[in-house]
Order: sequence, then structure tokens, then C-alpha cells
Amino acid sequence: MSKRDYYEVLGVSKSASAEEIKKAYRKVAMQFHPDRNPGDKAAEDKFKEAAEAYEILSDTDKRAQYDRFGHAGVSGNGRGFGGGGMNMDDIFSQFGDVFGEDLFGSFFGGGRSNRQGQRARGVRGSNLRVKLKLSYEEIAKGVTKNIKVKKYVSCTTCGGSGAKDKGSVQTCGTCQGSGQVRRVQNTFLGQMQTVTTCPTCNGEGTTITAKCGSCKGEGRVYAEETITIDVPAGVQAGMQLSVSGKGNAGERGGTAGDLIVLIEEEAHKELHREGLNVAYDLYISFTDAVFGTSLEVPTIDGRAKIKIPPGTQGGKIFRLKGKGFPNVHSHYEKGDQLIQVNVWTPQQLSEEEKELLEKLSDAPNLKPQPEKAEKGFFDKIRDLFS
Ligand SMILES: [Zn+2]
Ligand SMILES: [Zn+2]
Repeated sequence: MSKRDYYEVLGVSKSASAEEIKKAYRKVAMQFHPDRNPGDKAAEDKFKEAAEAYEILSDTDKRAQYDRFGHAGVSGNGRGFGGGGMNMDDIFSQFGDVFGEDLFGSFFGGGRSNRQGQRARGVRGSNLRVKLKLSYEEIAKGVTKNIKVKKYVSCTTCGGSGAKDKGSVQTCGTCQGSGQVRRVQNTFLGQMQTVTTCPTCNGEGTTITAKCGSCKGEGRVYAEETITIDVPAGVQAGMQLSVSGKGNAGERGGTAGDLIVLIEEEAHKELHREGLNVAYDLYISFTDAVFGTSLEVPTIDGRAKIKIPPGTQGGKIFRLKGKGFPNVHSHYEKGDQLIQVNVWTPQQLSEEEKELLEKLSDAPNLKPQPEKAEKGFFDKIRDLFS
């Protein structure tokens, strides 16, 4: 049988670029790959033919030889296909180039990484997600929480094995306990060996002849468990803590998943968190603003006394250093509490109050004199961010 033209095999023109050739080969190889056409001799031949065409046309020198002399120019050239001189690594490197590593894996049913695969014990349990709402006080100091969760736990009757007793665990007959089976395939390269997970035991290496009655062979049961979570100080809403091995138990002794704790913040009645800082809106009366006073404000750690000096303007911000939240990543860094002063303007007045205030309305010292105030708004903002 005479050989088909290589360009024709890949369905490209004689002037096709290297990229066009690669693309065309990828398409043909995917279509006729033996894994996709098991037992189809015609497809295998087409696959082989395409690989050979690509081997020549993807190489500038060989392509030039072929263009000048046809098949005669490249027969017996290099690692020819007819003699089976190409080893596995050559093929892998060729496919790696053509398909990229991602496709490579799926193409060969798991790829090379599975070859060194170890016998798995059971099936890993899934991660479990819970939400945990914390108050500002708890976040400020860190807290240990005990929470009840419903989840899969290891079966105590069988110790997680899923077997009725020791005698009902047997070495898997299909894989002789290795958890893997070798599959030999005839391809254009000759015989190709692939190693896959044993379908009989799912890679566990053992099979169970009699199942545990409590868990019906699963090795785990659904139950409630109390889990202790140590929450470090300074966490924030949206953060996730991961508690290793506290998720769902695996099947038949498989590793447990993780418990993922999503942090939420309970709204505070008076305080408002802004990153590491805590904001508080303080309302004082006009007379307190004029004469000054001392009063208590709430903080995330009890209450604190502050002094309002005489002549305090509305909008003034007092800073309580270190009264904010700690940085979860550094024990030494702490935010501040920012207290913004609001001077309360009365909204209802008695006749007597009205009279008193009206008497004051023309008093010279009640006229705003912002240039005499200690600092303007922009200076204060600058202070805050300095
Ligand atoms: Zn059991
Ligand atoms: Zn097996």
C-alpha cells in the first residue's frame, strides 16, 4: 500500500504554518486516539498515520526533505515509526508539546502521576462548612467556642473499617492488594501499559465480605459532635478558619475532611467596626460642649472615661489609642477607638427654654468664629490618617 501525502493526512495545505500543522494534528489525533476508539483498527491506523505525518512536518529539516523528495526523502529518517524505535518518553514529550500538560493527563487516563500512586485507605471525607457569629468582645480577646455540628463520624462498632469483624476483610483478588491494575493496550507504538486504580476495591487493596451492621459497611455514621474551635483575637467577618480533620469522616477509614469556619460579626448596639478601628458616635448637649464635662463611653473592652474640654466643637474626633481590635496576624498591633462628637441640637423646646435661648441669640460670643477654632475639618482628617 502506498503512503498517503502527509499534508493530505493532516488536512492542511503545502504552505501551512507550523501552528496550523500543530492544530490540525491535534484535531486528527483526538479523533482517532485508541483510547477513544477501543478495538477500532482503522482508527488506530489513522492515528498512527497522523503521528507519523506530524513527526515529519513539525520538523523544519525533515519537512524540507519531504517537500523535495517525498516519502523517499524521509524514510528511515531518525526515530522512524515503522521500526518502532520511538520510546514512550519520546511520545509523551511529543504529546506534551502538542496538547499541553493538562490535556495530556486526561488523554492517557490519568497520565503519569498515577503510576506512583499509593494504595488509598477508604475514601476521604468531605469538608464541612459552618458559620460562627462572634460579638465584638469575643473578637477583641479571642475566644474558645464549642459548637455542635451534624456530620459523619467514624463508626465505633467497626473502628471505621466497615467490616463486621477482622475475618471479613480480605485482600482484593483483582489487584492482589496493590490497589492498582495494569492495563496493556496495543497501539501504534506497540504495547502500551497504563496503570489505573483497581475497579474492584477502588484502590483500597481490600474487599469486605461481611459488612458492619451499624454503618452498613460505610465505616461512618451520621451523628452530632461537639467541636472546640479556638478563635484567635482580631478575626474579621468573611475570614475562614480551617480546622484540620474535623470535617466529615471518610468512608472505610479514609481521612476526614476539614471543618471550615466562616466568621460572622454580630452587630454592636453602639460601636461600629472599621478595620482595626472602632467608631463611636457621641452626642453631647450644647451646654456640655460649652462648659466641658467628663463622661463614660462604651468600648469593646468595658467602658472608658473621657474628658470633653470646654468649647468642644461638633465633629471633633477623640482617639482612644489601642482601644480598637488587635491585628489577627500580629499581637502587638492594635487599632484605636475613634469618638466623634456630635453636639445635639434640641428639636423640641418648652416656652421657658425658648425664652432663654432667644435671649442668647444675639450674644456676640455665640456667633460662629471658625477661624478661632483650634482646628478645621481638613486638619482633623489629616490628623486621622497621619
Ligand atoms: Zn461500622
Ligand atoms: Zn483491588
